[in-house]
Amino acid sequence: MAKLTPMMEQYIKIKAEYKDAFLFYRLGDFYEMFYDDAINAARELEITLTKRAGGKSDSIPMCGVPYHSAEGYIKTLIEKGYKVAICEQVEDPKTAKGVVKREVVQLITPGTVMESNMLKEGENNYIASLSQFKDGTHAVAYNDLSTGENRIALISHGWDAVIHELYNQPIREIVISSNLPDELQGQLKERLGITLSYQDEVTFNAEYRSLSENLNDERLMKAFSRLLNYIQHTQKRSLDHLQKAEVIQLQDYLSLDMYSKRNLELTETIIKKGKHGSLLWVLDKTATAMGSRMLKKWLERPLLNRKQIEERLQIVDGLYHGFMERDTLREILKSVYDMERLAGRIAFGNVNARDLIQLKQSLQKIPELKNTLYQFNLPEINRLADELIMPEHLVQVLDASLVDDPPVSIKEGAIIKDGYNQQLDTYRYASKNGKQWIAELEQKEKKETNIKSLKIGYNRVFGYYIEVTKANLHLLPEGRYERKQTLTNAERYITPELKEKETLILEAEEKSVDLEYILFLEIREKIKNHIPELQHLADTVSKIDVLQGFATVSEANNYKRPRFVEGKLTIKNGRHPVIEQVMKQGSFVPNDVSLDEETRVLLITGPNMSGKSTYMRQLALTVIMGQIGCFVPCDEADLIIFDQIFTRIGAADDLVSGQSTFMVEMLEAKHAIANATDQSLILLDEIGRGTSTYDGMALAQAIVEYIHHNIHAKTLFSTHYHELTALEESLSSLKNVHVRAEEHEGNVVFLHQIKEGAADQSYGIHVAKLAELPDALIERATAILQQLESDDKPAPITEKIESGQLSFFVDDAKAVKEKQPVNRSNGSVIEELANMNLFEMTPMEAMNELHRLQKSIKK
Ligand code: ADP
Ligand code: MG
Repeated sequence: MAKLTPMMEQYIKIKAEYKDAFLFYRLGDFYEMFYDDAINAARELEITLTKRAGGKSDSIPMCGVPYHSAEGYIKTLIEKGYKVAICEQVEDPKTAKGVVKREVVQLITPGTVMESNMLKEGENNYIASLSQFKDGTHAVAYNDLSTGENRIALISHGWDAVIHELYNQPIREIVISSNLPDELQGQLKERLGITLSYQDEVTFNAEYRSLSENLNDERLMKAFSRLLNYIQHTQKRSLDHLQKAEVIQLQDYLSLDMYSKRNLELTETIIKKGKHGSLLWVLDKTATAMGSRMLKKWLERPLLNRKQIEERLQIVDGLYHGFMERDTLREILKSVYDMERLAGRIAFGNVNARDLIQLKQSLQKIPELKNTLYQFNLPEINRLADELIMPEHLVQVLDASLVDDPPVSIKEGAIIKDGYNQQLDTYRYASKNGKQWIAELEQKEKKETNIKSLKIGYNRVFGYYIEVTKANLHLLPEGRYERKQTLTNAERYITPELKEKETLILEAEEKSVDLEYILFLEIREKIKNHIPELQHLADTVSKIDVLQGFATVSEANNYKRPRFVEGKLTIKNGRHPVIEQVMKQGSFVPNDVSLDEETRVLLITGPNMSGKSTYMRQLALTVIMGQIGCFVPCDEADLIIFDQIFTRIGAADDLVSGQSTFMVEMLEAKHAIANATDQSLILLDEIGRGTSTYDGMALAQAIVEYIHHNIHAKTLFSTHYHELTALEESLSSLKNVHVRAEEHEGNVVFLHQIKEGAADQSYGIHVAKLAELPDALIERATAILQQLESDDKPAPITEKIESGQLSFFVDDAKAVKEKQPVNRSNGSVIEELANMNLFEMTPMEAMNELHRLQKSIKK
């Protein structure tokens, strides 16, 4: 390899320290990247890859982005989960000897960005850390640098529980030990899409003490210190605005595993991954970004404590009924800025005067907000209002010091009010006075010389001057003026007097700009001392905002306040909160749910597309809405407080982790069975679908039985295996319900109504007909069905079975397979259809085959 230039040597040395980041290497007006960085950046940023001569024969891949437009490129990389190290020239290239000295001045990472254009308004941006301990526990610490929030949880149920905890939270980056096994690292990175960072050495610094008062466990301390160590070492940032770490006791919240978070589409939809169509989308009637972030947190962690739930409901109730006052409240909230992030930026030192004016305006709203809350006249709401304490002193400082409409820059003056600082006033007076004197001088000179067009001007190079047009030069008296500059048709002059005043004015102006900057920093510093107050205020305002949002959405969508009772759940005319919003008004068919100790398991049958899944999801969503303190979509509800919700719904493959639908189904079922208690809610939607009929049916039956006998959780179980409805006879707490459909002139009409008892038939072929499969094919399918139904097929074993006996089914299945009817006399499509081994196919494969067959006869 040819010898590298000294500059490239410097590059390689710096790059070695930032292996996992793109190194933006400053070269004149560009940030350049080389080697693999260049190849990857060219791909990710869609910029041109060039080459640079690296020595005699080698050429080095290179690409670059202009310095002045780098921000957009950095943002793109950060959003894709990369890190960017900014390497600047730290000495003047003109005076440097040899290679210009360069240093990394900032490492920008997804979890540590503070720039508002890289943050989403209504969303937290967490950097987390993870520590694994020998006793099998894990500790996870979360920090949002933009708000200063710190939270820590101890997870004692092994690695899976860690993944469930981290899933679906806005975590952009996680700090781990490089000793964490590769496989686990891979899961964090690939399955959860989180950027990994490493901090091996963990030390507890004395300055963390005030932040960690609440942490009484060494394991929590370890995770927290890992996080703070990383932030300090890599970001070189002050930790001033960080809040006291709050311990999340996971057992205090309704636990939702990752499957449920995903399947229930709480904050984002499965397919489009967006907020639109999620429960959050329906419920988010908050007026501030702070409120929107808090709502999302509440949705992730519904409550278990009845008193806390009732308190929220009580407030929502009050806000619901005082709709005039609520309107006022919303209007006030709309004019409150994001105080939480403002506080973060004040501490971090990147606020300008405009931000502080926003802070002032927000703080000035507090008394009005407080008064409006008192008007509801409810003890619970009064208590919230009491929490709102306006830092009077701060508002005074801000009001006395800053002009109402300051410029963006804090270094060019025009931000401090007259009368705030005496010295500043003196400078301003001097400058104003000087300018006044000059204006008067202009008048005087005009008069004395009798030159009407004489004027006094100013430019940066020559300062103040007297300008006389060439035509008038003969009118000037001798010797009084000194010529300074000649223009095409005018001459410019100065006088000693003018220069003297000029010095005074310029000095005063320069000093006043400098002083304004100093004063601004002082003001910022003063506010910094009040950050905990501001944070508390922001927290209370967010809470009020979420609760008024609940009241607003409850009124708009006609939700009702749930009652919480022991042991018996009854919902009258319940609805699906999201589907009813996307359907034509009034077309959603409401349904009742009733579960208690006698009826713990509902076995739901009914044709495809009739509303089984919808019914199950709407129950789970109703439970969650109730436990976050919101009213619920129904006419009346008595709810039970559930400790956990487990779901097996939908057919979204966990493609990233490379698991098949069926494997995911089984994992989700296992997860429910391993963790559910008699206080839990389990939703199992058409389990066993991903495998052959008898296999699937056997598993489905065994799972229901197991839950019924051993777990006692409230369970909704939908199935397309009609045979399972016979279980009602053997399982005392299981009840059959079905979704009603009617046959009308050979077509099915879905009524979406849940009725007692089992569905009488499957209607699968009717759905195929609705999908407009060819008539001949439908006829043939009907014939096959009749034949199959006339064959002896195994009814489910209704006495209690032991797991070992399941092999029965497999043998029977084989027997049926062997006598499958085949008809070769018709056209090739019919023949192919006849030859299809349905028992070996998943529904998806069957669908694909049908599609292929249909296509072949359509053309
Ligand atoms: P299944 O699980 O029985 O196949 P789904 O629950 O997926 O059926 O429902 C299919 C479609 O039927 C839904 O997307 C929705 O449009 C409609 N639907 C379901 N339940 C109702 C209802 N209660 N009222 C009105 N439409 C409904
Ligand atoms: Mg379904």
